[in-house]
Amino acid sequence: MIEMMKMKMMNICNNRIVVRWIVFSSFIFHLSICSASIGMQALGDSLMTWTGFSPDWCPRVRVKNLRVNGNNITVYTNGTLKDVSWNQNNIAQLKRKVSRWVLGHGNGNVSIYSTNIDIETLVTECAKAVYGPKSSAGNRSGDLTERNIVLYPSHGLYFNRERDEWIWQRAALWTTVEDLYTHEYVRLVSRMLENAGATVIMPRAGLDRHELGVSGMPQWTEGARYWLIDQKNDSAIWNLYDGDEYKDDMKCRGMWVNALDIPVDLCIALHTDGQDSGNDSTIIGTLVIYTAKDDSGHVVLRDGRDREKTNRNLADWIQTQMTNDIRRTIAPEWTRRQLREANYCESRVPVVPSIILEVLSHKNFADMKYGLDPKFRFMASRAIYKGILRYLNGINAVVQPLPVQDLGVRITDGNAQTAKAILRWKPTLDSLESSASPTYYMIYIQENDGEWDVQQVENTTEIELGLKRGIQYNFYVVAGNEGGLGFPSPMISAYLNDAEINDQMVLVVDAFNDTYGPQWFADSTYAGIVPDSYACEDGLYCAYIGAQWDYTRTHKWINDDNCGWGACYRDHAGRFTVGNTRDWSVLHGHVLRKMRKSYMSCTVGMLDDFDLQPATFYLVDYVCGRQRHPISSDNRQRISGYLDAGGQLLMSTDHFSAIDKVWAGKYLHAKYHAANATRSGRINSPRHRLYQLILEPNEEQLFTCTPEVLMPPVSATKEGKTVVYANYEDMRCPAAIGWKDSKTVNNETVSTSTLVYGFPLEAVQDFEKIYRHAIEWFKQ
Ligand SMILES: [Zn+2]
Repeated sequence: MIEMMKMKMMNICNNRIVVRWIVFSSFIFHLSICSASIGMQALGDSLMTWTGFSPDWCPRVRVKNLRVNGNNITVYTNGTLKDVSWNQNNIAQLKRKVSRWVLGHGNGNVSIYSTNIDIETLVTECAKAVYGPKSSAGNRSGDLTERNIVLYPSHGLYFNRERDEWIWQRAALWTTVEDLYTHEYVRLVSRMLENAGATVIMPRAGLDRHELGVSGMPQWTEGARYWLIDQKNDSAIWNLYDGDEYKDDMKCRGMWVNALDIPVDLCIALHTDGQDSGNDSTIIGTLVIYTAKDDSGHVVLRDGRDREKTNRNLADWIQTQMTNDIRRTIAPEWTRRQLREANYCESRVPVVPSIILEVLSHKNFADMKYGLDPKFRFMASRAIYKGILRYLNGINAVVQPLPVQDLGVRITDGNAQTAKAILRWKPTLDSLESSASPTYYMIYIQENDGEWDVQQVENTTEIELGLKRGIQYNFYVVAGNEGGLGFPSPMISAYLNDAEINDQMVLVVDAFNDTYGPQWFADSTYAGIVPDSYACEDGLYCAYIGAQWDYTRTHKWINDDNCGWGACYRDHAGRFTVGNTRDWSVLHGHVLRKMRKSYMSCTVGMLDDFDLQPATFYLVDYVCGRQRHPISSDNRQRISGYLDAGGQLLMSTDHFSAIDKVWAGKYLHAKYHAANATRSGRINSPRHRLYQLILEPNEEQLFTCTPEVLMPPVSATKEGKTVVYANYEDMRCPAAIGWKDSKTVNNETVSTSTLVYGFPLEAVQDFEKIYRHAIEWFKQ
């Protein structure tokens, strides 16, 4: 029976709302509305705008049917709205908006369907936990012991039989390639999960595998197919497409997961996407893909759970955590893309909860400006770990602490045969996670180059130590709580020589805690990474493959070897790049110990714990490395007071230009003169000693890409108290400026001196030699 109904339909057109009353059968109504209605198209456009999705990477919202019955509105749409992460707040918000658009007020009774699914039913367990009423129930533990997690980087080199060549699966862009770049996230997330007790396994060789594979490249560069062969997996897992090794490589990953003889809690294929906004500022952002049916068409997982619901929930946890954390810290404009149900083999084949995570778009300049910054990758990785943790243990799970940044070791009594010292540190609080506070610390202590000794302490941020004379002690601290251990702190160090009488000491201040991405530029025609500008990585980085060479915005992708704007060389692929290794006090300490010079050390944030008196410290060695802002105004004041009292200062930095000019002139007796100080890296110093400065990415030693020319201020030159202590050979310009003077303090004549370098000493090939040479400048 055809039920007659009274219908009100509104067309939305140029913000004018036309109201018509129509009486139709629902059947005829459906047909007539479907055929053509500007109102439905405009409603679809408004819905699309509301989602924040871009038509560049997502089908537009199409309204297929709009029914209005009095105050009741029912909207039927295509599949796009299904991909939104729905929660009770955004559903209520959208319903009010639709009511306003259709009825002119926000009080309509609205139902919205996407491919015949009521959006109310798409609210995941994640959305209920994050946006629903706060509950103290649930597991608060951050422990992931007993959990087995599959997490692997995408792609990798594969053998292309047609080309008879090992090739990358994706294009080389913005100094990296997806095949290697995704290792960087997997490395960090795995370590966080393992620190919480989980077992993480993957079907590709990890970054610790240095063996060379078939291509003369390390095994970690290769796709999963070859690692699974290496690990003697059955050919039924990796030989699936009659010699198409590309397809084998994609599918073998899920086949391997299903063949594992341990219960797998979840599987994440970590990718980056290839979308391009074509401009500098539009973020493509984070997409998650899941698949509702497995390879056999089953809609349940191996353990019987509903496949779509479970996978969508996992996807929502990861994407919600990532988007929220990225927006609250580094990139407020970050884009949340779809929770997309689609048929890709990496999310289809596994019969355990599985998703494909597209962290960002490696083709898009705006995404990669963030993606090349180690701080962004750490933060995104921590969000992935937190998403996994909450999916498994609930929203109240305890998150492991951030690494301790600041610590110092202070010798309090150096006269005894066993000197007394205090090791003190500061916890790093996490503004995003109240649960991430440390509840205990692991203290690691090493004597000379021996084994690391470890002890656990609670309810304190310092310990007393006895230091034997003649031994170098190295330290680091790891914060822990119920969520497991954080990452290690920087290393610091102390040493008392074995002389009978206590000397004045050196204080080594580690002021190098920065990491950052390369510099970039943009004009209307060209844009990209500034030539010869390199990131300052956090430790070792595996994904730098070569410099960008295509800067022309209009150059389009043709194929992966001719991939247009952003294309880069590949000469560095398969090698690591070293950045900030956070062990600078130890490096300096090794040389000081050989010179039998007693020292203690701290990170820069702990300098307030030290009384900077020349009577205690005959020299402050202020280690700036590649720090972009070498000295804060607080520490300028501390150093000024110390120098005024007759102290001596050694400083080396490739960002001298960032130091306050007036202060630098008065206290460092040097001024910034020019950038790009050397191409050859050859440094001459008195008595014709030659040093080689390292200027290129490499896996052994810190390098610099911004050496600077320094000059003595005119006034200092006139006084004749400055000396050019080193020169850039090719530029014939000063690389280091020394200053010596004497002054009267409290009726006593004291000598004071400074020595400043326009590059980090740690980037000189023979660090020991140049550092000794620098120390020799100062009188003890
Ligand atoms: Zn991919």
